[in-house]
Amino acid sequence: MAGLLCALSLEKRGVKSTVFDTGMHGLGGRMGTRVIDPQQLIFDHAAQFFTVSDSRFSKLVDYWLEKGLVREWQGLVGQLELGGRFVPLPSSPPRFIGVNGMRPLADSLLSETSMVNVVRPCWISKLEPFNGMWRLSENGFNDVNVTSICMSIYIFIYFPCCLVSFMNPLLLT
Ligand SMILES: Cc1cc2nc3c(=O)[nH]c(=O)nc-3n(C[C@H](O)[C@H](O)[C@H](O)COP(=O)(O)OP(=O)(O)OC[C@H]3O[C@@H](n4cnc5c(N)ncnc54)[C@H](O)[C@@H]3O)c2cc1C
Repeated sequence: MAGLLCALSLEKRGVKSTVFDTGMHGLGGRMGTRVIDPQQLIFDHAAQFFTVSDSRFSKLVDYWLEKGLVREWQGLVGQLELGGRFVPLPSSPPRFIGVNGMRPLADSLLSETSMVNVVRPCWISKLEPFNGMWRLSENGFNDVNVTSICMSIYIFIYFPCCLVSFMNPLLLT
């Protein structure tokens, strides 16, 4: 989603871009969804709901509400504590869910674009400076030269005793 939103933002400034993504089954990253046929069971991979605190995001969510892509979740949300005790979270701020899962939100973002190319599934394994540009490569994939790179990568680092995870937003120009 961060990659697509970045690409949309570039498009508004007249810049063409390519989003490279590993998604085997579709777009969305951790806002991806799998549908199991024939019962049409819908499973979100990670994010099941989101809240809104930014006015620009609020406009986008209003648009998704109009299109019927999201709806407010009125049900209970809480945490299951050790021992099985369910602790409800406060009902405010409003929470939104994808009506057919989260992935259609990414598909909708892509459908709004005309200057964004998506290459998927694709694992960029190497980045190197090349003639004043950046060269991206993937095993078995032709190298691509680009002028700037914006990365939105979720990194898990495993230590023997604990798990640390953090976002690594990075802009290389
Ligand atoms: C289990 C879980 C539950 C969550 N629940 C919630 C929730 O209920 N509500 C909420 O608001 N948030 C939730 N989150 C957090 C939320 O899912 C993320 O903050 C959000 O989806 C991040 O979006 P993103 O676009 O920044 O990154 P991502 O969705 O991680 O997208 C990054 C994309 O880049 C791809 N990528 C990475 N490296 C490469 C590479 N070298 N080459 C090509 N592609 C690459 C990845 O495969 C991925 O598709 C949850 C997260 C997890 C893990």
